[in-house]
Amino acid sequence: MPQPLTDLVAAVGADAVLTGDATLPYRRDHADGTPVGDPLAVALPSSTEEVAAVVRICAEHALTMVPQGARSGLAGGANAIDGAVLICLERMRRVLELDAVDQVARVEAGVLTIDLARAATDAGLFYPPDPGSWEISTIGGNIATNAGGMRCLKYGVTRDFVRELTAVLADGEIVRVGHRTVKGVAGLDLVGLLVGSEGTLGIVTEATVALLPAPAPSAGLSAAFPSAAAALAAADALVADARRPSVLEFLDAGCIAAIDALIARGDAPGPRLPVAEALLLVQSDAADAVGDVRHYAAIAAAHGATLVETADDPERVDALMDVRRLLHPALRAIRGASLNEDVSVPRSQLPALLEGIAALGEELGITIVTGGHLGDGNLHPTVAYDADDPADVARATRAYLAVIELALRLGGTASGEHGIGSLKLPAIGAELGPRVHEAQRAIKRALDPRGLLNPGRKY
Ligand SMILES: Cc1cc2nc3c(=O)[nH]c(=O)nc-3n(C[C@H](O)[C@H](O)[C@H](O)COP(=O)(O)OP(=O)(O)OC[C@H]3O[C@@H](n4cnc5c(N)ncnc54)[C@H](O)[C@@H]3O)c2cc1C
Repeated sequence: MPQPLTDLVAAVGADAVLTGDATLPYRRDHADGTPVGDPLAVALPSSTEEVAAVVRICAEHALTMVPQGARSGLAGGANAIDGAVLICLERMRRVLELDAVDQVARVEAGVLTIDLARAATDAGLFYPPDPGSWEISTIGGNIATNAGGMRCLKYGVTRDFVRELTAVLADGEIVRVGHRTVKGVAGLDLVGLLVGSEGTLGIVTEATVALLPAPAPSAGLSAAFPSAAAALAAADALVADARRPSVLEFLDAGCIAAIDALIARGDAPGPRLPVAEALLLVQSDAADAVGDVRHYAAIAAAHGATLVETADDPERVDALMDVRRLLHPALRAIRGASLNEDVSVPRSQLPALLEGIAALGEELGITIVTGGHLGDGNLHPTVAYDADDPADVARATRAYLAVIELALRLGGTASGEHGIGSLKLPAIGAELGPRVHEAQRAIKRALDPRGLLNPGRKY
């Protein structure tokens, strides 16, 4: 056995070191069209100390490392690199502490997002960030990508809830950054730096996150519109309203058709969807959620909604939102593979973004469908393609990058929530500019001078 493997087995035990075919399930995330390497091994540490031991061995043997949560990522950031050790935190799933007075939870990084949310609920509290993948993603992965979700409109993103982190740096040293307290400005904000760093600055092993009092039960509605423009106008009115929604999601005609096809084929449960040019899904979790939703329904109708369905019991509210959760599989099913954007633009630029995407689709001869977090200006234009057809792959890649260029021209960003990973690497230089790009690389060098942690990603 090569020396690094012998050392890894000595550090974490034989059952926590996988090689050969056993590494296959760990090699890639959910992003189509991203490179996947042949790793040396997968390490499955069970504690911060074991993560540190694995990292020290990798550093000693100059092995690259890829931190992994659940590989639900959509940017290729957790994919294997040739010869690397994949350090997967799936065995670190303990909720360590729930403090109702301080309103925080302290968890190991491999805890599933939904398990953290449920633990908070059981204590009468609330962890708001709710990525569509929360049943499969880990809190460590959410922190590393600064994940968003449907409730960001009201509550903010993962970053807004992270107080304190334990992380293992590239040389194996364990550090604790941030503050358990609500306030804390001693030193530079290294929590802010680690959040969204996509496994390139350190491996997060433990997190203290802020919790809120549990909100009222949600009420919701879905509203069908005869044009995307009408839906956007209704959304503007909803966001500007004093009774601001907690969730405001959008599906265009292509998304509606793709999700309906999935349901019609029996590949997903749910009621058939109306034929419409656009659908808005709206929720309130305020004290008068039912009254809010009545108010939203009137706003939708005033903007030309043709069909409005409201729900005020939790099961029916969930059923309305389940449609949105089918977006990713439905779009992937169109041609077998898909490139998923997560561009974000100032809300005022949403009409220009949608018009620009339609024009790009026509120009490049490819269909781009769009749904997502309309309330935040964060949409998921998606290019479905046939991975076995090189011409289609080239067309899809061109369209994918052209949408990012469009978002940047509109004052937006290439990535609102999924991260850069390897998928969006060609776009990062244009967004940051040379000086800031170099400054970010300098920060990376300061923490990981040998470039061992997730190299070739993010920057
Ligand atoms: C159906 C579906 C719906 C989705 N919906 C959303 C959504 O609504 N909002 C959203 O933001 N994302 C969404 N995603 C994307 C994805 O789930 C998120 O990016 C999530 O945060 C990734 O978590 P993970 O544990 O799977 O991380 P992974 O995919 O394993 O890793 C993601 C990145 O984080 C790094 N990383 C992982 N764990 C650690 C750690 N402990 N320390 C340091 N670095 C680490 C990896 O190296 C990689 O760069 C969705 C994905 C799918 C498949």
